[in-house]
Amino acid sequence: MNTITVFKGDGIGPEITDAVLDILNAAKADLSYEIFNVGEAVYKKTGEFIPQEGFASFEKNKILLKSPITTPIGKGFRSLNVTLRNKYDLWANIRPAKTNPCLNTLFSNVDIVTFRENTEDLYVGKEEVIDDDTVIAYKIITRKASTRIIKAAFEYAVNHGRKKCTCVHKANILKKTDGLFLSIFEEIAKQYPSIEANSLIVDNTCMQLVMDPGQFDVFVMPNLYGDIISDLTSGLIGGLGLLPSCNKGDEYAMYEAVHGSAPDIANKGIANPTALLLSACMMLDDLGQGDVAASIRRALDQVFAQQKYLTPDLKGHATTREFVEAIKSQIKR
Ligand code: ATP
Repeated sequence: MNTITVFKGDGIGPEITDAVLDILNAAKADLSYEIFNVGEAVYKKTGEFIPQEGFASFEKNKILLKSPITTPIGKGFRSLNVTLRNKYDLWANIRPAKTNPCLNTLFSNVDIVTFRENTEDLYVGKEEVIDDDTVIAYKIITRKASTRIIKAAFEYAVNHGRKKCTCVHKANILKKTDGLFLSIFEEIAKQYPSIEANSLIVDNTCMQLVMDPGQFDVFVMPNLYGDIISDLTSGLIGGLGLLPSCNKGDEYAMYEAVHGSAPDIANKGIANPTALLLSACMMLDDLGQGDVAASIRRALDQVFAQQKYLTPDLKGHATTREFVEAIKSQIKR
């Protein structure tokens, strides 16, 4: 039995967490949970976004299933997501986007795994006011952080039978920062002759993705491009409600949906819990409970194929609860 820490988050966070835990229980995942409310609502009550017991639980269990937490735009505190990634040195953000043949999507052949560097680039959040009319932001790229994420992408490619690894950058303009990332990629690629390696400028990558996504396999890129490109890949497979992720370091792992807290649909009972559910499946795979993950993925496919219980983001009319019950009844079959 593995004990994991669970953060419930803001907006749709509590709804999708309850949905996922319900499904994990139905699938008889061999897990016990230490569950914490975190985020804006908790801050308003206690003055802390994440209670100290929540941090302590994660430090003990090393595995966190985390719901989205709201990040106010333009002012106030640093993103809690970014804080968690840095505090626990969760340097690899892995985001697999795969077309589900049971859903009607524009493309039938998307199968892209994005490796996003997770600790630096513009996400260091270091900005300076020069004068009233001028501000600057620091874009930090280091050899250490670039090397480990690029190696992780190639290792993944080798271990998962992938054929190609593409480095996404803007080194034609950012010659020093992205230039360093690209040069490290080119060096490391030589150590993996069985994997085809190429590089692409980020704007061209966007265009190629919407024209012909089937040409891509494994992506590796600095932090900000990873944020943007992975949202784009989620659009190719049916939307943000479907894209899982894990954030890994040497010691800790945090599994979360790629989407935010979706305040526009919070408390309406219509959120799609699939992204968090598939993140939980990635967690189960890593915990050696791949059979449980497989049974959940099978049930999900069957529910998608029926088309009857799709949530509104997938052009359906079902509530979160109806969707969850449909998955649970497939698992029990
Ligand atoms: P953040 O900046 O925190 O990542 P965001 O600006 O990307 O957040 P989201 O909260 O991810 O925004 O939401 C973007 C859109 O996608 C919203 O219209 C939201 O309702 C929709 N959306 C996101 N997640 C889901 C979900 N699980 N189910 C249904 N719709 C979702």
